[in-house]
Amino acid sequence: MSLSESAGSPREESPSPSHPNLRVLPHRREVNLSAAERAVADLLVALGKDPTSEHLSDTPRRVARSFAELLAPREFDFTSFPNDEGYDELVLVKGIPVHSLCEHHLLPFYGTAHVGYLPGDRIIGLSKLARVVELFSRDLQVQERLTQQVADRLQEQLAPKGVGVVIEAEHCCMSLRGVRAIGSRTITSALHGILRVDARSRHEFFALTGINT
Ligand code: ZN
Repeated sequence: MSLSESAGSPREESPSPSHPNLRVLPHRREVNLSAAERAVADLLVALGKDPTSEHLSDTPRRVARSFAELLAPREFDFTSFPNDEGYDELVLVKGIPVHSLCEHHLLPFYGTAHVGYLPGDRIIGLSKLARVVELFSRDLQVQERLTQQVADRLQEQLAPKGVGVVIEAEHCCMSLRGVRAIGSRTITSALHGILRVDARSRHEFFALTGINT
């Protein structure tokens, strides 16, 4: 499958009837690689560089393909299982690597996510928690929205008793330029259900993530 196909095929908003666990993304515009290449070459000229020089001649193609890859979400099957044993304690996956692109500067931000939920009638494979983070990371993002999207999607798909998502990330637009706050980390969180309304559950979640509240 080409990059443009994977990024641009028409998508439905609702779950597919034949794959009830598969929730697909809304339609995204197709990536036009040749237009992106031309734009990168123009950008290089505008920045006082010569894209026809030996060292830069292949750079527009590489940059266009890099962005196309970084912005192409990978769909996956949101497989869930009946919670037959009635497990009702927090399930938490810590330290999920996150990297995304800030929509204001097109520079990376990266760090870790901690994603947890309090099971209801169903549980999911633990790797799916990391896949949800990756799904929304491959986009032009702000950290606040990314955090919320991960929490909302888990709530919609799994209908658990609670969801908690924390992301800690360093933003290159803050550490490499501007204030040059190297090593500073931004922490965002999004909570649903019991984790949102019950102070003890919320405290337990943040304690397990290592975030002090
Ligand atoms: Zn930025």
